[in-house]
Amino acid sequence: MQRRKLFVANWKMNKTVSESIRCATELKNLLSGKQEHEVVICPPFTSLSALELVLQEVSVFTGAQNMHALDSGAFTGEVSPRMLVDVGCDYVILGHSERRQMYAENEESLSKKIKAALDHGLIPIYCVGESDEQNQAGQSFDVIEQQLQNALRGLSHAEGFRLVVAYEPIWAIGTGRSASPDWADKIHAFIREKLAVIFTKDVANSLRILYGGSVNQDNIGLLMDQENIDGALVGGASLDAKHFTSIVKYGDK
Ligand code: PEP
Repeated sequence: MQRRKLFVANWKMNKTVSESIRCATELKNLLSGKQEHEVVICPPFTSLSALELVLQEVSVFTGAQNMHALDSGAFTGEVSPRMLVDVGCDYVILGHSERRQMYAENEESLSKKIKAALDHGLIPIYCVGESDEQNQAGQSFDVIEQQLQNALRGLSHAEGFRLVVAYEPIWAIGTGRSASPDWADKIHAFIREKLAVIFTKDVANSLRILYGGSVNQDNIGLLMDQENIDGALVGGASLDAKHFTSIVKYGDK
């Protein structure tokens, strides 16, 4: 099945509003013209509105890096799905390992967030991935199966079609130690197999599964050659417009 490749920039807690505008403007100019692949920028919350304006005339979407499951209320410091929709946001990253590790995100709350995102017309990019210890202990497949089941169980098939899943092994994030294309493809094939059980084969075949973890302009080509890798979630290398563009345009000579 032909799946349109998706490249997502996760800027994490980097860039002020003016720095975000500068980087997105450069990116917009570098990516000008018709794009083969889909591109999403996930800046900090504070830059979302500004980027919507910068990216208005190009088909580059915006996404948030997290959100609360509820629409409003006494939740100091949180941002709701309604607020994201209001600023024109299209995507939301949920379950990033940094949030699981540092902010005790768990699948119980993530399943609520995923449902809330879908209810508001946002596309969740649900992150899964094992730690180094789990990988060494041969537990990668079990860990990922649990992460998928716990957070996605209960969604309808129609909702399943609107998901994006990202495989981000924790040991590969920000370490310069990317997963090998073979390993990533094996895990992606496994994720697709599990998605077929949770939803249907049709859903699983249409869903995009991104790889994330030390993606750069040198390793992107081989990763994207794999049958089950449908794009990338890029952290460090997405902070520079030129680097990120060469990742998105990996096939160009
Ligand atoms: C990430 O944090 O989502 C990520 C993939 O980071 P990096 O590309 O820097 O490894």
